[in-house]
Amino acid sequence: MPVKNRFAELHAEITGWRRDLHENPEILFETHRTSALVAEKLKEFGCDEIVTGLGRTGVVGVIKGRQTGSGRVVGLRADMDALPIHEATGLDYASKTPGAMHACGHDGHTAMLLGAAKYLAETRNFDGTVVVIFQPAEEGGGGGREMCEDGMMERFGIQEVYGMHNWPGQPVGSFAIRPGAFFAATDQFVIDVTGRGGHGAKPHQTVDPVVISAQIVTALQSISSRNADPADPIVVSVTAIESSSKAFNVIPARVQLKGTVRTMSKENRKLGEERLKALATATAEGFGGTAEVTWLPGYPSMVNSEAQTAFAADVAEAVSGACDRAADITMGGEDFAYMLEERPGAYILVGNGPSADVHNPEYNFNDEAIPAGCSWWAEIAERRMPLA
Ligand SMILES: [Zn+2]
Ligand SMILES: [Zn+2]
Repeated sequence: MPVKNRFAELHAEITGWRRDLHENPEILFETHRTSALVAEKLKEFGCDEIVTGLGRTGVVGVIKGRQTGSGRVVGLRADMDALPIHEATGLDYASKTPGAMHACGHDGHTAMLLGAAKYLAETRNFDGTVVVIFQPAEEGGGGGREMCEDGMMERFGIQEVYGMHNWPGQPVGSFAIRPGAFFAATDQFVIDVTGRGGHGAKPHQTVDPVVISAQIVTALQSISSRNADPADPIVVSVTAIESSSKAFNVIPARVQLKGTVRTMSKENRKLGEERLKALATATAEGFGGTAEVTWLPGYPSMVNSEAQTAFAADVAEAVSGACDRAADITMGGEDFAYMLEERPGAYILVGNGPSADVHNPEYNFNDEAIPAGCSWWAEIAERRMPLA
C-alpha cells in the first residue's frame, strides 16, 4: 500500500503550515505561538479534547475513533522547538527571528502530525483513541520528561507511544528503525581542577592545574579503550578547557573542564560516571591538586520496544516500500526516551534526502517527506486499532 491519497491532496496545505512554522521558530519552552497555532488547528479539525499547558507549553489532542470498544489508546508524538542557530539557508520563508532557527526539522514533525490529526479526525477509521502529543523543549530542555511528570500517560490512558524524526542523507520518504537502544544517553560533566597558581617562570613554587588537566583529559580516553566492553559503545568527549589565567606568564590556580558522556546501555552509563570521577580525582591528587566533578545527568538512552518496532517497520514498509529494520545507532540524544521509559513504543527515522545535516545553519526540512510521514502516523493508528 502506497502513501494515502488524502495526504497527496493535503500536501500543499501541510507544506504551508510547515513553512509558517519555519518562519517563526521558538526555542525550548518558549513555543507560545507554535503551541497556540497547534491548539487552534486541533480545534478546527474537531478533536474531542484539547489540553494545553502540559509540560509548560505542550499540547495534547484526543481523537476518538468511530468505535472505541477496544479500549485501546495510542499516543503519537511530535516536537515543536527550534534551535539557537542563525539561519543561513537564504529561503524566502527563512526564520524571521535572528538567532533562532528550525535547524532540526521539528517544524516538519509538527506539521506532519497536524496533517495526520486532520485526517484521523475527519475519517476516524479506527476502534480506540488517538492521542496526539506536541512537546516543547526537545533540544536539551526535557519537555517530554515534563509532560510525563505532569501525568500525561495516566491522564489520557496512553498505552503505546510512537515518535518520528527526519534524517538527512536517507532517501526521502524512506524509513529506518531498530529495536532496542537507538539513541544515546547524554550526560554532561564539569571538572574543577584546583592547584596553586604562581609565576610562569617559577613552576616549582606552584601546583599547575594545566598539567593536571592535560593528564585528566588523556586518562579519560582509557574509559572507552580499556574499561568498557568494546561491543557496547561509549563516547567521552572533553569539549571545553578554561583556565583562570589569560596571561602568557601566569600559572593559573584553577582550570575547568567540561564535556559529555554518551552511552547506549545502563551498565556503561554507570561505568562512565564512576570511572570519570575516579580518574579525575585520583589524577589530581597524584599531582598534589584536587578535582571536583559535577555530574549533570541528561536524557536516558532511547530504547525501542521489540513488538512495537516490528509493527512500526511493517507499517513503514507498507507506506513507502522501503524500511531499513537494522538502522545504525546514533550517539545523539532524544527526549522521546522518557516517554519510551513510561510506555512501550517505537521511534522511526524518515528520510530527508541529501540535505545539510540537522543543527547546521544550511539545513532545511524536506517537504517531499510529508506524504510518507503523515501516512505512517495515520496507518499506525488505523492498523493498531482496526475497526471490528
Ligand atoms: Zn536536534
Ligand atoms: Zn530533532
